[in-house]
Amino acid sequence: MILYTVAGKAGRARYLNLGDSGDLAGKNVYVNITNRCPCSCVFCLRRTKKEAEGDSLWFKDGDPGVEAVMEEFASVDLSAVRELVFCGFGEPLERLDDVCAIVDRLKAKRPDLKVRVNTNGLANLIHGKDVTPELKGRFDTVSISLNAPDAEEFLALTRSRFGIRSYEALKDFAVKAKRFVPNVVLTVVEKVMSEEKIEICRRTCAELGVALRVRPFED
Ligand code: SF4
Repeated sequence: MILYTVAGKAGRARYLNLGDSGDLAGKNVYVNITNRCPCSCVFCLRRTKKEAEGDSLWFKDGDPGVEAVMEEFASVDLSAVRELVFCGFGEPLERLDDVCAIVDRLKAKRPDLKVRVNTNGLANLIHGKDVTPELKGRFDTVSISLNAPDAEEFLALTRSRFGIRSYEALKDFAVKAKRFVPNVVLTVVEKVMSEEKIEICRRTCAELGVALRVRPFED
């Protein structure tokens, strides 16, 4: 499933393909663009391939090409969409060029389309350079999963292939992204993290000059 909406509360959310989503007016439309990711988070549904294959966000035949994604958009009334969100079973910015190409083509149709990417914040490590200038004019919001109050815990949770430098790189990405994106947000999940650790994350965000969003958790 490439395009989907989300129904239900956080933690019990269901992914609906657009055919089952009903009227799109005022809804977010999510774009699942890749199953690739440099992390292997202990909480990620991609973790066990069996689980992942049972979910329709898993691409059994590889990631869809740009044209396949655009074909999906052909029947979408963009004027009804509240926000377009790149978020799926992988790290969207693994496919930075394709994501940018898709956003450009959609914004040509609706210039005021609100666009967000939910990311692990490791795009500069993935691509070996500062890619944040590419976000300018394309993304209104970059939402980065902070996950942890320090580098060691971050690595233990995400098992990033870039190792211990990942946490600093994430923070650096957030600061650099701020130059080009109006809304840069770091996120943690309540209850998964203690109040003390959330407070550390809050201080970190204040130092970086970005907002912290504590996402609700439900089992
Ligand atoms: S960064 Fe996201 S997609 Fe990648 S392993 Fe972690 S939770 Fe899964």
